[in-house]
Amino acid sequence: MKEIIEVKNLTKVYGKKAAAFTALKSINLKIYEGESVAIVGKSGSGKSTLMHLLALLDTPTQGQVLIDGENASKMKKRKVNKLRSSRFGFVFQQFFMNPNDTVIENVLLPLKIAKAKRSTRKKRAMTALKIVGLDEKAKNKANDLSGGQKQRVCIARAIVNSPKIIFADEPTGNLDSATGNKITDLLFRLNQKGVTLIIVTHDEDLAKLCSRVIRISDGKIISDKRHRVTPVKPARPARKPVVRKTTTRKRG
Ligand code: ADP
Ligand code: MG
Repeated sequence: MKEIIEVKNLTKVYGKKAAAFTALKSINLKIYEGESVAIVGKSGSGKSTLMHLLALLDTPTQGQVLIDGENASKMKKRKVNKLRSSRFGFVFQQFFMNPNDTVIENVLLPLKIAKAKRSTRKKRAMTALKIVGLDEKAKNKANDLSGGQKQRVCIARAIVNSPKIIFADEPTGNLDSATGNKITDLLFRLNQKGVTLIIVTHDEDLAKLCSRVIRISDGKIISDKRHRVTPVKPARPARKPVVRKTTTRKRG
């Protein structure tokens, strides 16, 4: 299995002096290609902090994050931005969309940031919207959609750059359970296609679906278990139905 993220002695301290708070304490971790990893823990345990560091959205106070073996803290800012925009996709609990823009404008955003070839942008955005079943809403204002639809737009936006890793922070946290299940299905379908999933959640049912569950408490990993062999094998294409000849044979 190929290692795609490694963290060594990762520590994050927020604030300074008397107000200093250590949110992560010396975390060591390797994440492999194709895994679906749940990061589980109580509110305030450090889940989001860990995810932000893994995704290079924030920098550690101590320790290292290695992406494909390369130390992120030694990379130029431009390279970090490029890596993030071309290899990572993000889905957050609060949706984070531009509410007054249309659905397709929201999905086009990562392609603009990654400076993707202009002539292909629209087609790629529509393909992503089709995957989440919202191509017909492309021209609607993002704010006019339901919560579940908004989260599907966020997933379209997360996958439009064909990322290797999707980071999802409580992706079903603001949704009713039926809608949440749809979002979960979508994420795991992507995982079947080889996308690595890193999901922060306190939903045990969602965690159970992941191939690996990492539990954190007070900024430390307290358990790290694999449920099944990873990476998930790509689903086999459905077999063609066998067409039986309908010749009737006389009996006797
Ligand atoms: P979780 O996602 O598990 O709920 P977080 O990673 O968001 O937890 O936060 C871990 C701890 O760090 C919490 O106690 C939180 O209050 C604190 N924290 C998070 N972000 C900041 C920040 N920007 N400044 C100060 N403290 C923070
Ligand atoms: Mg959080």
